[in-house]
Amino acid sequence: MKEQINAYNNVLELIGNTPLIKLNKITKNLKGNFYAKVEAFNPGHSSKDRIALYIIEEAEKKGILTPGDTIIETTSGNTGFSIAMVSIIKGYNCILAVSSKSSKDKIDMLRTMGAKVYVCPANVSADDERSYYSVAKRLHEETKGSVYINQYFNQLNIDAHYNSTGPEIWEQTKGQITHLVACSGTGGTISGIAKYLKEKNPKISILGVDAFGSVLKKYHETKEFDNDEIYPYRIEGLGKNLIPTATDFDVIDKFMKVTDEESAHTARELAKTEGLFVGYTSGAALQAVKQYDLEGEFDENSNIVVIFPDHGSRYMSKVFSDDWMSEQGFFDSVNIEQQQQIEFIK
Ligand code: PMP
Repeated sequence: MKEQINAYNNVLELIGNTPLIKLNKITKNLKGNFYAKVEAFNPGHSSKDRIALYIIEEAEKKGILTPGDTIIETTSGNTGFSIAMVSIIKGYNCILAVSSKSSKDKIDMLRTMGAKVYVCPANVSADDERSYYSVAKRLHEETKGSVYINQYFNQLNIDAHYNSTGPEIWEQTKGQITHLVACSGTGGTISGIAKYLKEKNPKISILGVDAFGSVLKKYHETKEFDNDEIYPYRIEGLGKNLIPTATDFDVIDKFMKVTDEESAHTARELAKTEGLFVGYTSGAALQAVKQYDLEGEFDENSNIVVIFPDHGSRYMSKVFSDDWMSEQGFFDSVNIEQQQQIEFIK
């Protein structure tokens, strides 16, 4: 008998079971022990691989999807990439309706992964027939055997994390986690993990991260939807201008808002101190950790798990570009040590 070759059957088998990595230097002046759940280790480089696989497999179990059918979503971001990846392996068509604001790089990336991309005008209202919401809805209605992922309003988004990320964190920390810090966009990540952890130990604190310019924190505190909270900001994937049903506000204890500028510097600091090249919202999450520490949230015995949702490579023309940082004015108040690290030999 020949020995079995040690290989995965396909890329999807690598989704989930991401590592927990201790943070050392960047948290040395904070109280507690800090561990990052680094979702960039998923094959599609983000936590969205989990929901793409979970939602598609649930549809398969219910008999809604059979090979050759179509999966539809409205995103140019991580979720789009993950859905395209899962669709390729499982033999589905993938349609993504995206805003004309999406960068060419992102659209090229999705097309490389086999998705059909509809680029819809950004400057129309959501109920306009040309908006990416309307286009996705229409294509879903017109395409027999199609599934609309609709991540902001899909309970399965929460269930994906309840069934995978939550149990992984409980197991990895041997039940010793005291605090979870996670960004909220659709809310699926924080809600699913929180639901699982609170069932295991209701004393675990669930600390959310929100952006200035988003309604989530105020809504959580007052149940009021305040339009005045809404204004443009730069961090992608964090916060929202509507209330997603994929967020279970009851399992979240608090929210902290972070700025674009501080989150950007913290993302860069993570690379320089911990060697972790992770995305803008990972910087936002660690920025929130620093602010929660200042508010006295943690003590020496705290075991804090912070979710890092994706990889830094997706932000080369943004947070990790000195030009972009300068254009935003993010270097105005700090010493530009970055620019001392490059020398051009002529
Ligand atoms: N970070 C990034 C980069 C994201 O794309 C998202 C998803 N919108 C989040 C954080 C937030 O995760 P969730 O949608 O599960 O709340």
